[in-house]
Amino acid sequence: EEAAAKEEEKPKELRSPICVVLGHVDAGKTKLLDKIRQTNVQEGEAGGITQQIGATYFPIDAIQQKAEKLALDSGFEFKVPGLLIIDTPGHESFSNLRSRGSSLCNIAILVVDILSGLEAQTRESIGLLRQRKTPFVVALNKVDRLYGWKSTPGGAIRDSFAIQPKSTMQEFDDRLRRVMGQLAEEGLNSKMYYENESFARNVSIVPTSAMTGEGIPDLLYLVLKLTQERMTKNLMYLSEIEATVLEVKVVEGLGTTVDVILSNGILKEGDRIVLCGMSGPIVTSIRALLTPQPMREIRVKSPYVHHKQVKAAMGVKISANNLDGAIAGSRLLVVGPDDDEDELREEVMEDLAQLMASIDRS
Ligand code: GDP
Repeated sequence: EEAAAKEEEKPKELRSPICVVLGHVDAGKTKLLDKIRQTNVQEGEAGGITQQIGATYFPIDAIQQKAEKLALDSGFEFKVPGLLIIDTPGHESFSNLRSRGSSLCNIAILVVDILSGLEAQTRESIGLLRQRKTPFVVALNKVDRLYGWKSTPGGAIRDSFAIQPKSTMQEFDDRLRRVMGQLAEEGLNSKMYYENESFARNVSIVPTSAMTGEGIPDLLYLVLKLTQERMTKNLMYLSEIEATVLEVKVVEGLGTTVDVILSNGILKEGDRIVLCGMSGPIVTSIRALLTPQPMREIRVKSPYVHHKQVKAAMGVKISANNLDGAIAGSRLLVVGPDDDEDELREEVMEDLAQLMASIDRS
């Protein structure tokens, strides 16, 4: 028993958490993602930040560098290798949340425009996140639009607060209180993230500006801290793979391909895979596992880098025969040596009705 307990304590290798960005149209989802990428690149922290298929990968070093500026919880130690943020806000990733088997994301950022407060799609997103039991934080965005706001580009939010005119902070407080009231109407207690002592009880609010980058260090830090503290179990490596089809795309020279988020496990070239198709289950073998070329490599012939295998968490394009009719949102299973292929065909098709319904809605 004691040995088992020791085994439990031993730090295990963790995978990167996966984050999705949701919110009402025009709240700033796209701009926020752009800003997260851009500020990192501008500050020379690009090393290791990689554009994947449908996602951007941020190694922990790049995030930690920002977190240090916050001089917060300096004792906090990051154990995950990085963060994978899904790039397609609102779009397929949104309806993917509806697919039952999918464990697409570990945490969500719900973007709310501070001037508009909660809107129809914000409320819809809250409903989905609850249904999926996905933890989330609120990015209270566009603080730079408050009257008289003085920006400190890329800064931590409390440093920004410290230099605002009194009237601007008064407006902030009023609008914050309004949003908190609206969240309460949805049955959610909320707190400013640095005053939140119980992630389980209260949703954390992080004021941000996707325009100036203020609050983005706070946001990244919080997302990492939250996933690591609350979800270590979900971040353990599994021998079984977990993967979701994000998009189905025809690519010149490759035919129909599927863009996949690999949430757990390892995918290999040649793996036999099963996914959900319009006219029945699709069973095929992975011909190629592809990610985009790094930006610098302009002379190379193919726009893609080929991989013998990829390890979660990762966004990857799969090229294979017979992918016509594959459905976005479908789970992707690998046929292991002991698996019954027919069972996997059935398993993957269990989600069909729900997937079709979400396609109809989008
Ligand atoms: P999405 O529909 O949620 O992806 O919203 P976008 O990212 O496209 O943003 C909608 C509009 O708001 C665009 O014109 C953005 O430039 C603008 N916007 C987004 N975030 C901010 C912000 O923090 N401050 C300001 N001033 N404008 C923003």
